[in-house]
Amino acid sequence: MLDYIIVGAGLSGISIAEELISRGKSLMVFENNSQNSSTVAGGIFNPVILKRFTLAWNAGEQLETALPFYRSLEKKLEVSLIDELPIYRKFNSIEEQNNWFSAMDKPTVEPFLDSNLTNSVNDHIPSNFSFGRVKGTGRIDTSLLIWKYREYLKKMNSLISANFDHSKLVLGEDFVSYNEISARKILFCEGYGMVANPWFKFLPLHGNKGEYLVIRSKDLKLQVAVKSSVFILPLGDDLYKIGATYDHKDVSADPTPAARETLLSQVRKMLDCDFEIVDQVAGIRPATRDRKPIVGQHPQFSQLYCCNGFGSRGVLIAPTVAKNFVAYLEEGESLDPEIDLKRYL
Ligand SMILES: Cc1cc2nc3c(=O)[nH]c(=O)nc-3n(C[C@H](O)[C@H](O)[C@H](O)COP(=O)(O)OP(=O)(O)OC[C@H]3O[C@@H](n4cnc5c(N)ncnc54)[C@H](O)[C@@H]3O)c2cc1C
Repeated sequence: MLDYIIVGAGLSGISIAEELISRGKSLMVFENNSQNSSTVAGGIFNPVILKRFTLAWNAGEQLETALPFYRSLEKKLEVSLIDELPIYRKFNSIEEQNNWFSAMDKPTVEPFLDSNLTNSVNDHIPSNFSFGRVKGTGRIDTSLLIWKYREYLKKMNSLISANFDHSKLVLGEDFVSYNEISARKILFCEGYGMVANPWFKFLPLHGNKGEYLVIRSKDLKLQVAVKSSVFILPLGDDLYKIGATYDHKDVSADPTPAARETLLSQVRKMLDCDFEIVDQVAGIRPATRDRKPIVGQHPQFSQLYCCNGFGSRGVLIAPTVAKNFVAYLEEGESLDPEIDLKRYL
């Protein structure tokens, strides 16, 4: 009998798999490619919410866990995943500049905001009110990470690239079985796919669709990320991601003409050079009302668990939550009450 079945190999599923494997646990992961939030993500890690200049939930602590976690995966998978990309917030008014300096009065935010404003970050991104640099930022190549980690699981015979059909799961007293596979516990890490999970769909998870344009510009030559109404994120080879959008109503998987128009008008306001659109991608963020993950044991069936609700900050949240969740599963450590799904019972 295996220790675990995991359903979903996005940021949640692979972070948990990694914690379990490091403890010598046996597992099988199912992945059906129905959701792609983790693979289309911008991969940005940034402790500061750039609208209000407040610290994101537990972001300081999460950053300390996340960087060593991704560094160890770089070594293990023999790939480069971390780009310590600077992020500049473009100010649109004097008031925004003042808010930046007021935010620096808060001791939790102060370490992440540079007090020296910059007049210019690039010849093609004009600003009348300068730019502020956020410290402790960067980008994880989540797409590369996910594909490499799935390859690694495949080599260990721990990945089944197929749909997990909930109706075929048999619940034993203290185990579960699915076709030929039995395990002590099953962990559902399905992202927005959780809305089809008969045991956990009662939880208040909602979809928040995000779309990016990928543009090519020979002239731009931008080496840093810039945030105004949207992010401009350099990918290398003159390519840039522009976005992302936030849409609570449309949870279809496909990119939309409406998002394309919105992003196009926003990027035109930011750039004064030529570019062409080369791609458009979309994904559904698994979001919660209180913007905190939903993690833990099913109230009735003790072998069933879920780890979800990473919203728009999966890159920073996943390593910390996976550590706490696996310590709870394996060492009886308590689950952070702020993420425990019990708050919704
Ligand atoms: C456009 C966009 C931009 C983003 N940018 C950032 C960013 O810059 N920084 C950041 O931190 N976060 C960002 N995010 C958010 C981040 O991507 C998410 O928080 C994170 O990916 C969620 O990970 P997850 O594993 O919970 O869900 P998912 O990535 O959705 O993974 C769930 C997996 O489960 C699989 N699955 C579901 N049901 C089944 C089933 N029945 N059988 C088998 N497999 C199943 C799915 O195929 C999927 O692979 C962005 C999201 C979007 C959409």
